[in-house]
Amino acid sequence: MLNNNNNNNNIINKWPCCFFIIIILIIIKPSIRYCLPSTIQVGGLFTPEQREEEFIFRLAVNNINDDQTILSRTKLVAQVKSIDYFDSFHANKKVCDLLEKGVVALFGPLGYSPSSAHTQSICDALEIPHIETRWDFKLHRDDLSINLYPQPSVLSSAYVDLVKAWNWDIFAIVYENNEGIIRLQNFFKDAQKCNWKIKLYQFETDKPYRDTFWEVNKAKVKNIILDVKRENLLQVLRHAQQVGMMTESHSYLITSLDLHTMNLEDFKFGRTKITSLRIVDDSSPELINIMQNWTELTKNMHMHNMDKPNSILTESALIYDGIRLLSTALQDLDQSQSVDGIQPISCYSGTPWLYGSSLINYMRPVAFRGITGLVDFDQLGYRTSFSLDVMTITIDGFMKIGEWKQTSSPNDTSLTTYEPWSDHYSAISMQNISLIVTTIISEPYTMLKESAVERSGNEQFEGFAVDLIEELSRLMGFKYRFKLVSDGAYGIKDEKGEWNGMIGELIRNESDIAIVDLTITSKREEAVDFTQPFMNTGISILFKKPTTKVTTLFSFLSPFQNIVWIYVLAAYISVSTILFVIGRLTPYEWDDPHPCRQEDNVLENNFSLINSFSFTIGTMMQQGSAVAPKAMSTRTIAAIWYFFTLIMISSYTANLAAFLTVEKVVYPIENAEGLAGQTQIEYGCLKSGSTKAFFSESNIPVYKRMWQFMQSRPHVFTKSNAEGIARVKKSNGNYAYLMESASIEYVIERDCNLTQIGGLLDNKGYGIATRKDSPYRNPLSHAILKLHENGVLLQLKERWWKQKKGGGQCTEETKKSSSVNNLSIDHVGGVFVVLLGGLSFSFLVAIFEFVWKARKDSHESIFEEMIRDLKFAFACQSKTKNVKKKLNEEIYPDRYDYSPPNYGPDFAPVY
Ligand code: GLU
Repeated sequence: MLNNNNNNNNIINKWPCCFFIIIILIIIKPSIRYCLPSTIQVGGLFTPEQREEEFIFRLAVNNINDDQTILSRTKLVAQVKSIDYFDSFHANKKVCDLLEKGVVALFGPLGYSPSSAHTQSICDALEIPHIETRWDFKLHRDDLSINLYPQPSVLSSAYVDLVKAWNWDIFAIVYENNEGIIRLQNFFKDAQKCNWKIKLYQFETDKPYRDTFWEVNKAKVKNIILDVKRENLLQVLRHAQQVGMMTESHSYLITSLDLHTMNLEDFKFGRTKITSLRIVDDSSPELINIMQNWTELTKNMHMHNMDKPNSILTESALIYDGIRLLSTALQDLDQSQSVDGIQPISCYSGTPWLYGSSLINYMRPVAFRGITGLVDFDQLGYRTSFSLDVMTITIDGFMKIGEWKQTSSPNDTSLTTYEPWSDHYSAISMQNISLIVTTIISEPYTMLKESAVERSGNEQFEGFAVDLIEELSRLMGFKYRFKLVSDGAYGIKDEKGEWNGMIGELIRNESDIAIVDLTITSKREEAVDFTQPFMNTGISILFKKPTTKVTTLFSFLSPFQNIVWIYVLAAYISVSTILFVIGRLTPYEWDDPHPCRQEDNVLENNFSLINSFSFTIGTMMQQGSAVAPKAMSTRTIAAIWYFFTLIMISSYTANLAAFLTVEKVVYPIENAEGLAGQTQIEYGCLKSGSTKAFFSESNIPVYKRMWQFMQSRPHVFTKSNAEGIARVKKSNGNYAYLMESASIEYVIERDCNLTQIGGLLDNKGYGIATRKDSPYRNPLSHAILKLHENGVLLQLKERWWKQKKGGGQCTEETKKSSSVNNLSIDHVGGVFVVLLGGLSFSFLVAIFEFVWKARKDSHESIFEEMIRDLKFAFACQSKTKNVKKKLNEEIYPDRYDYSPPNYGPDFAPVY
């Protein structure tokens, strides 16, 4: 008890002492872990023009100081020096001034200039972290620098992905200085792999930009990658506009990440596709806050006369994130080691800062979401896992239309578009505009209306294509005016590489779109753009039906196919043989021919081999037979054979009647191979269409041969399909016209003397053609898909093919002639199966009869007796045999010894 009291007293006595120690520890602890001074200097080098960047730098420092979660015990102080961009000596001095003030890191100079390279080398030597925010082509990072600007090779792969998404094959790269070419270095590597044709143009320093654009215009290049400084961009775009390089068919990819900050009012109505990438995340709460409170914030920073921009520059945003990166790294460094003192550094002493490289090392693992998206670095200190917005200019201003992302590895990239590129343009491009639609007279696509009164304008035309364009205009709100193609050609490239026909008109800007049975081909796709196909087709042969009826000497064989005849013959032989065997096996077919002469002991059988065969043939020919089956088994065979013959004869008679009444037409050619293999029948196609192009470009031997034939006789080519059809009609089967199946279908629906021979030589579609890179292509494609989906195109086809202009005339005729076919084994196979079943059944009956009789009359084993009788049957030697008598066998065993049987010499065979 006493002891206990003592202990308690001890604790009570010691308690104030323990409490005191704990308090001391709490107070001391931070001073052990956190050694950073209460103020830390951060240096920034800006030119007098870089006011926005300087403001954001100061603002970022202020915001970090206000943020209690980072460096709560230390305040950052922004040390800003103004430098001359090109005077590296001056810059040098300013850097040294800053270092003497004891800055822990340096920002700037921005941009690509001699002074930035100089600053970089000083920082390297004195181990002061240099946080860069500019494009830098260096392939290796210096140890003491970190760059928040995306790596050039990664940006290049974003451009490659965009060019691929737009299907640019030929384009120009227009650049300002050699830096631009270095910037796109990686782009060229990928371009080589993709076989892109790239033309390079550099702006000349002493000449206006428009001179270079004239060159681009002359080369007819519509897609341009433009690499110019942000400051010059507006002027460059204006010059492009002045020389007509800012039309709806032109597309620009601007490499600057700052396009979104510019005022492009003058270009937003031009329908030119101006696209660029943006790293600044305009949805970031910090950026929203900056933009909302711009005026107030600039006032607080004493940075007056700063107009609020559309958005902050990329470098400003990177500086803002750079300050956060530095603060986080400082905090991490402070938590892991004691940073005892940040002393001023003298450029002349050459003694580096002790913690410089540690600070840089602490920056690399930092990851946070800033106003340029995710700020994260790979092992080498390059930004990784960031995303870029794909921005384009519209009448409503800048719009984000997609996103390009880089995941952990530089090669793992993805480009997603929120809406198809085209959708965005469709909304602005088709409403109330007026299109010139070129077409050609071709039934039933575009036809002149038959009318007593003279019509003009669109009113004079009717047809599938006319209805289609009307449906499209209703759907999309555009107006149109038809124009017949001046040279009456669809479009083919001549030796000089010039296109004629509708394709030529589109290229020469004489019309906006072409619609008719215009085939989508790869060659044409190089010159113009096509929408989704509105109809499928392929080349086939139009030919005149021969009128002569074909008669053959052996037409009586036609009702059955040859195989059926072979089966019938096989059935006849097998049934006759089985009848013979069963007739001999069954005891009920053996009769005593002279019942009154008991001593003969002879039995006779009617089903000799010859009788069996004549029985089956007689019954088959419906003539009956002198021999009649008596046993149950033979009667079963007879019955099933009667049934078989009944069915076969009826089928034959019915089909023969059909064959003799229906006219059978035999064509001298059956397909393209047939046509190519002869010279009697001439053949040709349209002079300036895709069918001719198909044959001239084909590498398939048959089509090559056909092309040589056609080339050697130029008169086989026609000016229009109508001329080709007329020629086929007039010919006496000595001219075949190679034409597209959709048109053939229309013709043979109306002219029953014409027909299509063989299948399709190729598969293709008809589409609406627009100029290359036309903004109308995608909206039209969408509308065509809609018309496909809601069945309008099907209805139009039904109307113009089956209903109007005498459609549906030849359908009945076609049905009639195609209905007679000779019967195959598939048609009559069932009768053979029944026959087989009947024969098997008759075998069972025969065995039953045999057993039944043997059980009554014989005293030897039934099996032995059956074997003996079967041997006798197959021996085919006689139609008679001895009577078996039980009693006699017992009295004279020698005489009735049946093994081996000996019927021979005693009985002469009777046939
Ligand atoms: N549809 C073809 C064209 O677009 C014309 C007809 C043909 O060549 O058979 O060229």
